[in-house]
Amino acid sequence: MERRLIPVIVALVVSWSSMAVCGQAEEGAQFLDGIGETALIARYLFNGNCEDWSRNTYHATLQGDATHVEDEQFGHVLSLPGGEDGAYVRMPGRALVDVDTLSVVGWLKVKNLTPWQRFFDLGQDTARNFFCTPVGEERADGCRARITVEGWTQEQGPATFRVSTGQWVHLGVVLDTTKKTLSLYVDGVRVGRSTGVDVSLTDVLNQDNPSANQLYLGKSRYDDAALGAQLYDVRFYSIALSAQQVATIRQNAVSDEEMAVTPTSMTPQKDTQEEAIDVSPIYAGLTGVPNITAATVVGHLPRLPAHIAGVYRDGANGPLVRVIWPAPTDNSPVRQAGTYVITGTVPGTAFTPKAAVTVKAGPDQASQPRMDLAPFPLGQVVLDQDDRGHDTPFMKNRDKFVRTLAQTDPNSFLYNFRDAFGQPQPEGVRPLRGWDSQTTRLRGHASGHYLTAIAQAYAGTTYDEDLHANFAQKISYMIDVLHDLSEKSGKPATEGGPCNADPIQVPPGPGEDGYDSDLSKDGIRTDYWNWGEGFISGYPPDQFIMLEHGATYGGRNNQIWAPYYTLHKILAGLMDCYELGGNPKALEIARGMGIWVFKRLSVLPTETRIEMWNRYIAGEFGGMNEAMARLHRLTGDSRFLTCAQLFDNIDFFFGNAEHEHGLACNVDTLRGKHANQHIPQITGALETYKGTEDPAYYHVAENFWRICTHGYMYCIGGVAGAKNPNNAECFTAQPNTLFANGFSKGGQNETCATYNMLKLSRQLFMFHQDARFMDYYEQALYNHILASVAEDNPGNTYHVPLNPGARKRFGNARMDGFTCCNGTALESNTKLQDSIYFRSQDDKTLYVNLYIPSTLTWLERNVKLSQSTRFPYADTTKLTLTGTGTFDMRVRVPQWATRGFGVKINGRDQDSDAVPGTYLTLSRSWQNGDIIELKMPFDFYLRPVMDQPNIVSLFYGPVLLAAEESESRTTWRKVSLNADDLSQSITGDPSTLRFSTNGVNLKPFYETYSRHSVYLDVTLE
Ligand SMILES: [Zn+2]
Repeated sequence: MERRLIPVIVALVVSWSSMAVCGQAEEGAQFLDGIGETALIARYLFNGNCEDWSRNTYHATLQGDATHVEDEQFGHVLSLPGGEDGAYVRMPGRALVDVDTLSVVGWLKVKNLTPWQRFFDLGQDTARNFFCTPVGEERADGCRARITVEGWTQEQGPATFRVSTGQWVHLGVVLDTTKKTLSLYVDGVRVGRSTGVDVSLTDVLNQDNPSANQLYLGKSRYDDAALGAQLYDVRFYSIALSAQQVATIRQNAVSDEEMAVTPTSMTPQKDTQEEAIDVSPIYAGLTGVPNITAATVVGHLPRLPAHIAGVYRDGANGPLVRVIWPAPTDNSPVRQAGTYVITGTVPGTAFTPKAAVTVKAGPDQASQPRMDLAPFPLGQVVLDQDDRGHDTPFMKNRDKFVRTLAQTDPNSFLYNFRDAFGQPQPEGVRPLRGWDSQTTRLRGHASGHYLTAIAQAYAGTTYDEDLHANFAQKISYMIDVLHDLSEKSGKPATEGGPCNADPIQVPPGPGEDGYDSDLSKDGIRTDYWNWGEGFISGYPPDQFIMLEHGATYGGRNNQIWAPYYTLHKILAGLMDCYELGGNPKALEIARGMGIWVFKRLSVLPTETRIEMWNRYIAGEFGGMNEAMARLHRLTGDSRFLTCAQLFDNIDFFFGNAEHEHGLACNVDTLRGKHANQHIPQITGALETYKGTEDPAYYHVAENFWRICTHGYMYCIGGVAGAKNPNNAECFTAQPNTLFANGFSKGGQNETCATYNMLKLSRQLFMFHQDARFMDYYEQALYNHILASVAEDNPGNTYHVPLNPGARKRFGNARMDGFTCCNGTALESNTKLQDSIYFRSQDDKTLYVNLYIPSTLTWLERNVKLSQSTRFPYADTTKLTLTGTGTFDMRVRVPQWATRGFGVKINGRDQDSDAVPGTYLTLSRSWQNGDIIELKMPFDFYLRPVMDQPNIVSLFYGPVLLAAEESESRTTWRKVSLNADDLSQSITGDPSTLRFSTNGVNLKPFYETYSRHSVYLDVTLE
């Protein structure tokens, strides 16, 4: 059958530059009016229904009789009749749980002057509510926003003239709990503001029982008349919109000329509240920063150190000095052999160290690193209690996830797949919510994570027979169903019936002229016999085809949401069920779909692919290159390795189509890019290297890791969090500018991004045993991954916020509605033990990377090693060996262990010249019962923000300490510490990691569930 083009194709030829990625308001919901999507809670267009057009799918319901009418200005709008018991709109009660700051904006055309009609009224009862009335009793105080938690006599909020009737008015209400203000906007202009409003939305709404929350549009909580008005495009944001943002939203709705709030210039923004200071106190006594030399080869930018040992007065010791080197956007400085000088800066000082770089001609770093190390299978490393018989934080998080996973119904995770293939659902099956709901175009992604999670849980629960059996059963059930479905694709539904086996000849759905992404119950196509052999996904093939034809990201039927991203999760899950779960059918399904993908992509022109992979969110493909290279490794079919390279993000990896620079040449191509869209592509590059042995792919991975952790990383090990470009999920517009361009209000560190950075770090370490990879691993594991899970259940974070007085928000405690981060959390918490130990491929060396109570079974050497410790509540660990053998044990000397690293074997002190940030080798003919004791005294130390060194995080050993806050803050918490010895200013108990300083309590960030500050404004005295 002839392939027809979709009529809705957007003729989109993006002129691609790194800033086009995140910097501008674009078609699609991600940058709606220049405001990052992470801040958008819900958006009701009311253009025919009450659906939420944000990715959170908080669909509202219409209560009573109302009509959707045609409007001259906005097209379809909702018309509420008003009067007693008039119709209104109800949002789901959970939509605003855990939200404290709230902005509500929307269009109303009010029909009459009946007083106290409500634009919105959010609350539980008449004592606790938050509302806005467009029209009041008297002219002077007609339009109001009001909030109270103690009844109407205690209401607070601004008022202004009533709005005009019979015409469209844009209303905005902004509750800013940080500034304690409640502001009212009419037609994009601020018309009132109350200060000292010490109430947050979390005080108003019921946090424990969301169904008790009555979230109304158009209905009063009192006896007032219902709203008689037309409604259009009402949005709820979890941030305090600025006056400019409110004005922009209004302006963009009425004008053809798009305004964007985001500055698109590359110049760093200064935060108006914080002035840069002249000399950073943390470098007190610094008298100089030495110049350095560096060498590189033609084409490759030199790798310059981020830290240099400074020269301090009287030969004193001082912190390493953070140097910021210029970061060219291509490799022009090193295109020829010779020497040149680069001048760096040291923020907080006037020093300008220089690097003399020698550029040598010759082989372009053609070395071919080998993967010398291997991980241990998950079941061979079991987490243990600490040495006093208590569950460790790692065990607790593992158990929260594994126990809840064991109770899940696999049918919920199969729902979308059966639905896509038009198959009946078993009785009583509940579909997933959130990003897997019926009409969400990412549906199926959670099922991929779920496959990985049950495979890992199966492999890891060697310590519990019942759990082990439970997950074995889940794997075979899931795979049997998916296998049956994938077998149907491209084959006749009934004997002799019509079919299309060829993936590149998939016709439009029955009765359709073109392809669309309609997944609604009535609109979804289920003609699987036409889809080509081997197809499997949570929806029909259309989204893949539409991507090739130019479709953009969004919620309309001519738009899509990252089909290859979802497919990557599914393929990874299938391969995990094969590799970890031992299920051969799982590999068959993956192979079938792999061929489907290969066939489609291999006939596309290169330009089309480059354009696809760069199309924002629509073309996000997770780690498809990794999945394909892995499929090649598992099957030996070379088509899959070719296919992996069809996913090369060429400009990002290689600078341009001619492969002239890019990450392969150590050029920073991260600027402004979406972090979690790109990190998995890098693990994919490394997997592609394993198959192709082309060193360029290896360089891409290692250079990315260095650039990312040097120039874009926060204290918890997370990355991105940009305010320029205005999206918390993006890298900052320039490297080394977290203060100027980061600390976005919408959140800082997406948890998925750190999950992926950990995956990359451990793999790089297996190639290159540089302790920095595992130092980073420890930092991010304790301070982000461990810190991202709720106290008593497997709820977990999307973004971890790091602004002063911020609070973590946990979601998906019942595993029934997944964001991307809820998906990767399933994976992270079923493999917490996977990097404690590695072995060399030749089994001559054992690596002890992390100090976590656990028992290792090293089958190849018939040795057991048990690690017993209270770390990090103690600074020692004890390794006890069962078995014998001659091998090296390499133990990690953390880079923070600057007060020494003691080693005892069988009670005897060993001489060691351990250097922080390296591995110490213990070589011996080991005897049964040998005991190795390691002691690494903890110390307090500061990690400054690279471009504002007075803003610091306080660490104790590996543990980030958070200041406990009772409320949100507009400023950084100021603390004064002893310049010579931080511990002089801090009191507390290392065995509980509870401390205090400057009148504030500190505790591990991973034990912090209420408001916190992890960055402090420090003065050293
Ligand atoms: Zn995520």
